[in-house]
Amino acid sequence: MKELKFLVKGSAPQPYELLFIKDGNSLTAICNCPAGEHGNFCKHRISLLDGKPKGLVSDNAEQVAVVVEWLVGTDVETALLELRVVEKDKAAPKADLVAAKRKLARAMNS
Ligand SMILES: [Zn+2]
Repeated sequence: MKELKFLVKGSAPQPYELLFIKDGNSLTAICNCPAGEHGNFCKHRISLLDGKPKGLVSDNAEQVAVVVEWLVGTDVETALLELRVVEKDKAAPKADLVAAKRKLARAMNS
């Protein structure tokens, strides 16, 4: 099991802590922002998984690429790709977007 931690400046005075855990084929992504703490979708984890974290304040920018590699072949990657499809489809009902975000949040929490 491998772990990487990042600090990201969000809307709160204190930076949020993002923890990525790679265990075999599973990737767990934890964020302590209000949404993340409730097991909901948050943009902090997504921007890091996209390889371009916004507001990164920890001095380990070079480790972002490692997490991007960890994503490959996981259920998180599948859920993220599904979300991207729904996001691109302007005709998709809002409920589909909500469902895709929920599925992604679930994948990241397990
Ligand atoms: Zn977050």
